[in-house]
Amino acid sequence: MDKRISLIAANWKMHKTIGETVSFIETLQKEVGPCTDREVMIAPPYTALDAARKAMTMEGYKLAAQNFHWEEKGAYTGEISGPMLKDLGCDCVILGHSERRHLFGETDEMIQKKLAAAFKFGLLPILCVGEVLEEREAGRTLEVIGTQLERAVQGLSREESGKIVIAYEPVWAIGTGKTATPGQAQEVHLAIRQHIAALFDKEVANRLRILYGGSVKPDNVDALMAQPDIDGLLVGGASLEVSSFKRIVQYQ
Ligand code: PEP
Repeated sequence: MDKRISLIAANWKMHKTIGETVSFIETLQKEVGPCTDREVMIAPPYTALDAARKAMTMEGYKLAAQNFHWEEKGAYTGEISGPMLKDLGCDCVILGHSERRHLFGETDEMIQKKLAAAFKFGLLPILCVGEVLEEREAGRTLEVIGTQLERAVQGLSREESGKIVIAYEPVWAIGTGKTATPGQAQEVHLAIRQHIAALFDKEVANRLRILYGGSVKPDNVDALMAQPDIDGLLVGGASLEVSSFKRIVQYQ
């Protein structure tokens, strides 16, 4: 089995101006240097994508958008399409983040269309899945995530499915300071891999990179990354300061 290259991703949400974005990326690259054994991905707001692309000059740094619309163009006021993100130099797009699902009403059906569109327009999709607290407490975590996964990958080819990056983000851990323990995260990551193996096959499942997200901090990063099925991290709050994100990128 090929080694899965780890991916440390920053989701800045609705934070940072163009100037702040450029200054962050320049400082991070200066302090971390080029990355060859891991990838670093930054998802600034749409308004800073162009500046971020220009500031990313070192190997191993990738640019992501936080969302997009599945259509190529049309009467969709306020939306941005895949070709527009490619035009800006984006490599990846985050899909189905819990804030998109819960605050903006994104459904599994919309996320499935976005996933298919990401492949159509040449963007690497980072598909977020995760359960809310009541679902975890009711013992429904794996069932909820299984359904989100099945609906999202409908219609994808085997090749495409092996390329998706999945981010397991328990909703109760996002921005709350409550992190899943490394053991809790590993259990779900393994179940995701097994689910993908059942939907496609083992080879596809072994290629799949599965990130953990939810209150990742410098002091829990090493234990999370030591788990065999955690291939990277999706980081919100702790990605906004260079000092903490740098420590996360430099996990041991
Ligand atoms: C996120 O929003 O993807 C996230 C994981 O946020 P935080 O790290 O702040 O919990």
